[in-house]
Amino acid sequence: MNPEFLPFTRPSIDEATIESVAAVLRSGWLTTGPKCAALEAALSARAGGRLVRLASSATAALEFGLRIAGVKPGDEVITTSLSWVATANVILAVGARPVFVDIDPATRLIDLDLVAAAVTPKTSAIIPVDLAGFPVDRDRLYDIASHHRLRVLEDAAQSQGANWKGREIGSTGDLVALSFHPNKNMTTGEGGCLMVNDAAEATLFEKLRLQGVTRSPDGTYDCDILGGKANLTDIGAAIGLGQLAHLDEANARRRGLARLYLEKLQAAGLGLPPADFEQTNWHMFQVLLPESLASRRPAVIASLKAAGIGSGVHYPAIHTTTLYRNLGWRPGDLPHTESVASRILTLPLFPQMNEGDVERVCAALLAIIKGY
Ligand SMILES: *Cc1c(COP(=O)(O)O)cnc(C)c1O
Repeated sequence: MNPEFLPFTRPSIDEATIESVAAVLRSGWLTTGPKCAALEAALSARAGGRLVRLASSATAALEFGLRIAGVKPGDEVITTSLSWVATANVILAVGARPVFVDIDPATRLIDLDLVAAAVTPKTSAIIPVDLAGFPVDRDRLYDIASHHRLRVLEDAAQSQGANWKGREIGSTGDLVALSFHPNKNMTTGEGGCLMVNDAAEATLFEKLRLQGVTRSPDGTYDCDILGGKANLTDIGAAIGLGQLAHLDEANARRRGLARLYLEKLQAAGLGLPPADFEQTNWHMFQVLLPESLASRRPAVIASLKAAGIGSGVHYPAIHTTTLYRNLGWRPGDLPHTESVASRILTLPLFPQMNEGDVERVCAALLAIIKGY
């Protein structure tokens, strides 16, 4: 591949982290062990002492979160369709029904006015998503949840180190899931975690991630529920410990690059993300093409690629994919979501980029748009 190619994202792994992974490999203990315990403790410390449990993906953590919340077959779970499909798939995985409500086009996040209106006697939970790391309004979210006695499972897969009014995401609220996929602001290779409320929820999570088993001091075990196999390795946890040490610095770097993007793209006729330099972790920098260019997005992506620039579509609206259409959802059901999903484009943003990279992307994008 062209070494000059600028991908839309790329993890930053330092030499100390590579050394710590080598040490795990030499230690003879590769699976869940002391490194996972240390990462759970470090994440918990950042979250003000809340209990945190790791899993092999955020998808697993979200599914276990729904089980811990008591969401059962036939229940309804209110969420957004502008997210990675995992957000809704976990609802189906526990036999519940996803109820998508539209986004607020200004924030691209779930419209909380519509959440309240979508509550029925079958509703048991809400899954808000902090798309691109922009936090959903936690004050209004929890007002609605407590008014209707609903559980909240925060899909904070993209919001590592983001905050709501100065409170780090994960440090407050009900159940909160983070992802450590390599494209996220910190990684464990693959992995995720759930912030839980008490020891009983933590114990249930531990069973769900490892075959439903509880070990006894005498070397035997009991299995009292059906669990899966979704524990994190110490290899992954060693990567995560190295990443967590640099998370704030990496997010600050993203913030600086995002500020430059906003300056350079001010007059381009694109929809720009909110100029939030306080709360978001700038997980992605996403622009909206003008309505007139929506059908040209594939050509824009191809032209960027020809200029050595990667970009992405995050995300196609979940309810318009085949699985969800087969459940009765139709294009037209969520107009703001569909409009944004048809025009959104993720530009390169990761901590190792420099100002020149941002300028190159902006120049290329402006020239491509001018060409139409
Ligand atoms: C990445 C992501 C997930 C899933 O995370 P995995 O660790 O890949 O399972 C879920 N929801 C959102 C919004 C995501 O971005």
